[in-house]
Amino acid sequence: MRKIEHLGLAVENMDEAIKTFEILLNTPCYKLEEVISEHVRTAFFQVGESKIELLEATDQASAIAKFIAKKGRGIHHIAFDVENIEAEIKRLSENGFELIHQIPKSGADNKLIAFLHPKSTEGILIELCQEKTTD
Ligand code: ZN
Repeated sequence: MRKIEHLGLAVENMDEAIKTFEILLNTPCYKLEEVISEHVRTAFFQVGESKIELLEATDQASAIAKFIAKKGRGIHHIAFDVENIEAEIKRLSENGFELIHQIPKSGADNKLIAFLHPKSTEGILIELCQEKTTD
């Protein structure tokens, strides 16, 4: 794992959260993206070499809606940048970690992603992400 790529924050009101983080971080949101398959809207901010990802549920089927219902808004996941996501999935599986996604899927911000189950990672939801290559 090369760095913390981003922190994912579950928010209830995206417009308000964007305003708050634009002032807090003193930088504009550089990307808004809806991930239909995940039932979420996302907003990204660059902070040095890492990012903040705001996540808002678009309906009750969203994992973000369930998270907020259970725990309230707050830090939802930590995402690590990896060079080879398939190799990392294999390495972590072999070491007893439970993967939510055995096969990488398409995520926001031009990434291939896979989540680890929090029960094998001290209760913290972990995302692996690899930049998609464009050739
Ligand atoms: Zn994320």
